This record gives sequence, C-alpha cells and structure tokens, in this order.
Amino acid sequence: MRLINLDNNATTRVDPEVVQAMLPFFTDQFGNPSSMHSFGAAVAAAVRKARLQLQALIGAELDQEITFTSGGTESDNAAILSALEVMSNRTEIVTSAVEHPAVLTLCAHLEKTRGVKVHRIPVDRHGRLDLDAYRAALTPHVAIVSIMWANNETGTIFPVAKLAGLAKEVGALFHTDAVQAVGKLPMDLKSTAIDMLSLSGHKLHGPKGIGALYVRRGVRFRSLIKGGHQEHDRRAGTENTPGIVGLGMAAELALKFMDDDNTRVKWLRDRLENGILQRIPNTFVTGDPLERLPNTANIAFENIEGDAIPFLLSRVGIACSSGSACTSGSLEPSHVLRAMNAAHAAVRFSFSRYNSEADVDRVLEVLPAIVERLRGFPSSGPGERSAEDLQSGLCLSSRRTGSRS
Ligand code: PLP
Repeated sequence: MRLINLDNNATTRVDPEVVQAMLPFFTDQFGNPSSMHSFGAAVAAAVRKARLQLQALIGAELDQEITFTSGGTESDNAAILSALEVMSNRTEIVTSAVEHPAVLTLCAHLEKTRGVKVHRIPVDRHGRLDLDAYRAALTPHVAIVSIMWANNETGTIFPVAKLAGLAKEVGALFHTDAVQAVGKLPMDLKSTAIDMLSLSGHKLHGPKGIGALYVRRGVRFRSLIKGGHQEHDRRAGTENTPGIVGLGMAAELALKFMDDDNTRVKWLRDRLENGILQRIPNTFVTGDPLERLPNTANIAFENIEGDAIPFLLSRVGIACSSGSACTSGSLEPSHVLRAMNAAHAAVRFSFSRYNSEADVDRVLEVLPAIVERLRGFPSSGPGERSAEDLQSGLCLSSRRTGSRS
C-alpha cells in the first residue's frame, strides 16, 4: 500500500540533503565544539555556519541571537521562565487560549505553583485572537506575552508584529512560538519588536530533538539549563552537533525553496479543500480564510465525531489527524476547537514539499464513501458506544495524550 503523509504539522520527512550534511558529524567530525584542538575547531565552525543559516531564515540581526535547544518545547519553556526571572517585579503572563501545550501546560504549572497570573486571550470561530481582550490584558504587571505565530491545528496566523508592538507599550517582553511558521512564512525579525522566538527542526524537514530560541540583542536572558558555558552561556550541555548541522541545512533549504514550495503546497491544499467541500455536504473549513498557513487544511465534518475519519483513512494508507482529544472513551474536541466554540471535531490535513497531486486525488477518491459510511453509523453519545465501536478505532484514546502536535 502506498503511504501518503498528510500530517506534516506533526512532523516532516528529513530532507536527504539534511541527512547527508549530518552524516560526517557522527563519524569523522566527532569533535566537541568547545575543545581547543583542531577536532573541536572544525565542528565549532560547522555550528557557526548553522547559526548563520538560521539567522538568514528568520531575518535576525546577528547570528549570536540564536541559541540551539532540544526543540520547540524547550525553547518555549526557556523563554517564559527566563522572562519571569529577569522581570522579577512583574508576575503576569499573557498568552492565547490556543497555544501548544508546550506553553499552556507550563503556564498552568506556574499559575499553580508560583501564583503567576495567566491571561488566556480568547479566539473567534476562525481562531483569530480577540484584540480587545488582548489590549485589556496588557498592563505594567505583565512580564511576558507568549502568542504563537501560527496555530498548529487550524493554521491561523496571528499578527505577531503588531502584537509585539502593543506589548512593548507596557514594557512587557514578547515571545512567539513560531514552530509551525518558520520555514513556511517569510520572516524579518530585525524589523519587528519580537524579543524571543521558538523554532523546531522536525517541522521543517530537519531532524527531531533539535530546535532554537532566538533572543534579540539586548534582551536579558537566564539559561534554563545550568552547567557549562556552551551557547554563549544560554544553554548548558555539549551541543547536539549532528542535529545543529542538520537544522542549519534544513533552514537553508527552506529559505531557498520557500516561494516555490508554498505556491505548490497551497495549490495542493486548496485543491483538497475545494474537492472536499464540493463532494461532501455539511463540511466547512475552520481557520482564518485569508491569514492561514499555506500547507494547512482543517476541515469540520458535521455529525462525525472524533478520530473516526483519520482512523479509517489510516487503514488505506493516508495519514492525517483529528481535532479531538479522545480520552477515557469520551470524545472531546481539542482545546483549540473548544476555544473556537466549534461544535464538530475537525480533521487536519497538512502538506509538505513531498506531497503530490496524486495524494490529493487519492483522498478525494476514498473520503466521500468514508464520510457516508460514518454518517450512516447510528449516532450515539460517547457513553452509549459499544466496546466494539471503540475497539474498531472510532476512539484511539490509548495512543493519544489529548493534544495535537
Ligand atoms: N509548538 C508548536 C506550535 C508545535 O506544533 C510543536 C510541535 O508539535 C511544539 C511547540 C513542540 O515542538 P517540539 O516537538 O520540537 O518540542
């Protein structure tokens, strides 16, 4: 069976050029970049090159503004915890109701354990931030604003440059989780007021377990991980040099092919969306109709619950994901869909440069019958489902943690 990956917001295939760039750093180039001798110096130069490649992708002013981390989650945690430390006279955080758990779980923890006040700004039915509520939450008590650049489920893009400017007016730091946006949207950080930005290698055809945090020159920063002096004292621990080199190459390729990839990927995404809307009644696209990642389609199917569609698609070799958190046999929409007041679970199809027209046509070939079959399925509340229904995959709770990457 041919496998079709339409779940690229979860993770992407590593580009073969990225793999080639990484290989020597597992073998001959095994040196520690902190060492004084030649083994170390060659590897230190490769780390510097990767920093420059990332600088170019996000439009940072200086390569030293980039610190390598283990990924998006660590970068998000490092940014928020540092801000609370350097802005110790301020005890509030402003974030959105639709952030990734890397931000929301940390905020809930800080609320509970440190008495930090967290403002979770609501969104509308397209996942757009409520700007009035945002403005109202901004006071001189706010240490940091953390609002994502683009949402991982809906693809809705937030106006982060404008939000950062407003945060500056009350002296708060501005961080953005740009894990889903980096490599897909053009960026020029030096022309914005964004202080910190998180990114992750595996979302842009780079390796897993590597990411970076951008910290603008002049912004005070306290390292999350204490130890040696690596990464200009911003992240202790011997560097993941193959990962760093791979991330650098992924960044270079993303920048080089961004326009072409986006044009093609958007065409495929729109073809799928239009095809579904035309062929299957009672379906609609969630997410902002205009300000949306070019690769993301999040589609609600009325009267179908939970993981049913992704499960049945996976049986014919198509990977996508659903917007339900299916825990303990109850079918709950994800926190993002709940924040959007969505009445229906939605299915996310997310594309990459490795997708083709044939992938879209295959989905359009099999999906109408799947939806028809599921809609013919006796409608019942989660509590009324039989064990057989659950086992047959309509609820994949054992494999889910309740959130979507
Ligand atoms: N933030 C967003 C918006 C994401 O989509 C993800 C990945 O799922 C993360 C953060 C976490 O990134 P990582 O998997 O590199 O820790």
